[in-house]
Amino acid sequence: PPADQDLLDRRDRAFAGVQEHYYDEPPRIERGWRHHLVDTQGRGYLDMLNNVTVLGHGHPALSDAVHRQWRRLNTNSRFHYGSVVELSERLTALLPAELDTVFLVNSGSEAVDLALRLAWAATGRQDTVAVEEAYHGWTYAGDAVSTSVADNPNALSSRPGWVHTVAAPNSYRGRHRGAEAARYGPEAAARITELAAQGRPPAAFLCEPFYGNAGGIPLPDGYLREVYEATRAVGGLCIADEVQVGYGRLGTHFWGFEQQGVIPDVVTVAKAMGNGHPLGAVITRREIADAYRSQGYFFSSAGGSPVSSVVGLTVLDVLRDERLQDNALAVGDHLRGRLEELAARHPLIGAVHGSGLYLGVEFVRDRESKEPATEETAAICDRLRELGVIVQPTSDRQCVLKIKPPLCLTRRSADVFAAALDDVLT
Ligand code: PMP
Repeated sequence: PPADQDLLDRRDRAFAGVQEHYYDEPPRIERGWRHHLVDTQGRGYLDMLNNVTVLGHGHPALSDAVHRQWRRLNTNSRFHYGSVVELSERLTALLPAELDTVFLVNSGSEAVDLALRLAWAATGRQDTVAVEEAYHGWTYAGDAVSTSVADNPNALSSRPGWVHTVAAPNSYRGRHRGAEAARYGPEAAARITELAAQGRPPAAFLCEPFYGNAGGIPLPDGYLREVYEATRAVGGLCIADEVQVGYGRLGTHFWGFEQQGVIPDVVTVAKAMGNGHPLGAVITRREIADAYRSQGYFFSSAGGSPVSSVVGLTVLDVLRDERLQDNALAVGDHLRGRLEELAARHPLIGAVHGSGLYLGVEFVRDRESKEPATEETAAICDRLRELGVIVQPTSDRQCVLKIKPPLCLTRRSADVFAAALDDVLT
């Protein structure tokens, strides 16, 4: 049994087994530095998984700033102080001019919940269109639109009547593949038009601007433009969930929606925004916020607190100063090249997906039938962990390695990872 069996048992008792952990016998992680983790036995790991800690672990600029702010002041966000205003201005400066109004919260789930409420308030209706095989959070509304059966096993049974879904726009597998994937956009648009014709025009269309849950598959060209046009034609709002893919991870752009050349009405952000500290935001247009305000009120005790705001500002400073988006593009392209070399030699790799440092390696038993290699993927993750690499499967078929390391990953570490994967596959 692992040395930590007692602690694992206590964890399961305390959480009633509801909160899962990675691995059956997880390493007990004690500290981290950049894209490396160290466990209590002194073993080192490459962290290829952590899409929350974008700057890397233990960043001194962040810990110094947090420490200073905690010593000076932390309080609830209804007090008047400067950092919360600065953070909001920095966020809106990174977005198109019309997205000028900010709500600060503590997590991605809260951000998605609030985004939906904003859309409902601004349109006076509730019907919402989400994409199959998505994850958007655990709060009431976020859970309702989380359609992935891997992340939310109750998705089908718990889906309330206001949630409507369109097909997962997966160009690798699913109804339309390769060039045929261009059909997903018109199909989703037609569904929205049809809902309106049935007297249920949607308040909102919600999706990730880059298809995260299936393993980092870019949306088909023009997908968001087509679906956003149809949504707006029936008076609905377009919500881009940037919780996973925003903040430079895709390398090519700071925001996922920029890859599709659209401007959403509401944007949700979290994860990277706090580098692991609980911090999220919803950014929208003034008139949408006004409609919400006319019906209710918004207050989050710790959302945008002095410490959270300093975290948010420091994360943006470090991202800019260390040019981490550029690094995500350069190291991501390099790693992708290495993974494609492996695909040429290992038939188990069906495809390499992704952009920047959001990559997916999809394992199949047969490249023609694309039968998911689910058990093999689990075994590969366990073996990689023995070699000192932390990485996990994703997608409803659990057959895609999700590769989302801190954005400070180096070429050298990318090579170490590719060599380890090569060994395991061999
Ligand atoms: N939206 C997306 C796209 C996510 O990936 C997640 C978290 N995996 C959430 C929302 C919810 O964020 P949180 O876990 O911070 O509540």
